[in-house]
Amino acid sequence: MEQDITLQINNLKTQFFTSKGVIPAVDEVNITIPKGKIVGLVGESGCGKSMTAMSVMQLLRKPGKVMGGEILFHGQNLLECSKQELLRIRGNRISMIFQEPMTSLNPVYTVGRQVREAIMLHEDISKEQARKRVIDIFKQVGIPEPERRYGAYPHQLSGGLRQRVMIGMAMICEPELLIADEPTTALDVTIEAQILNLMKKLREEHGTSILLITHNMGVVAEVCDYVYVMYAGKVMEQAETFELFKNTRHPYTIGLLRSIPQIEDKKEHLYNIKGMVPNLLNLPDGCSFCNRCEYATKRCEKDRPGNYRINDLHNTRCFLYEKGGDFIGDK
Ligand code: SF4
Repeated sequence: MEQDITLQINNLKTQFFTSKGVIPAVDEVNITIPKGKIVGLVGESGCGKSMTAMSVMQLLRKPGKVMGGEILFHGQNLLECSKQELLRIRGNRISMIFQEPMTSLNPVYTVGRQVREAIMLHEDISKEQARKRVIDIFKQVGIPEPERRYGAYPHQLSGGLRQRVMIGMAMICEPELLIADEPTTALDVTIEAQILNLMKKLREEHGTSILLITHNMGVVAEVCDYVYVMYAGKVMEQAETFELFKNTRHPYTIGLLRSIPQIEDKKEHLYNIKGMVPNLLNLPDGCSFCNRCEYATKRCEKDRPGNYRINDLHNTRCFLYEKGGDFIGDK
């Protein structure tokens, strides 16, 4: 049976035009988000995860620009939508949660008013009806004393509560797609677990599709159905989550997984992938991971690896699997 696809990103190319040159922040990226699934987009800072999300939301600021590809939301290419159509979709059918809620909440209005206005922008309901909905969503996202918190200003709430307000605001119109950019990075582990549970509940109860951007492989293991690993603007490995953890192929993903702290690990220092993420203005001719890869050969320095199929659930961009997997093109 064919899966119902909420978002299909095809060959997305986003570049930044700077005085020093063109930065290929997102380079021919393909991502599929089926209905009711949580898809993880992982990698270190600066690998292109957030730029992929900002491209989908069309919130890129100059000098960034989408230079090619398609972003199909239920088959409709968002890159071809008018500003009015986008305004109708954004915040209503597609919502986004940012890492730091203080940057998205307006400090001079109460949080209740801000969430209420978010609904009234998209739905024809009275102020009182909207207020009731806000209090109800505050309850659902676990905000204690929601009536009292309705009248609080952002600075009067803890980081965890502000993040819940943002999640409430993103959920209130029951979006078909939620994009969450490092939503739990600034929170302690208890609040993180509660917020991840909320996302699972949203998926289960409303069939919401979620793109979860994170650098934390533990979070991926906890909630994601599928995983895309990004490095230097490209997807390096993609797989169903269980398959990715059981049958990890790409040397970069292996490094990310080795960096997860283990309870039984008695070593004083955590494993770190050696070296630095390459400067996108000056990428190597060959594989972008070659300066950090334990398995790199001379060929990796000069040729770019294509994408190879490991099995139906799994592709990787590494010459090591050229013979084992089928080449499925260079995108
Ligand atoms: Fe390492 Fe070469 Fe594979 Fe790149 S193509 S990840 S450098 S082995």
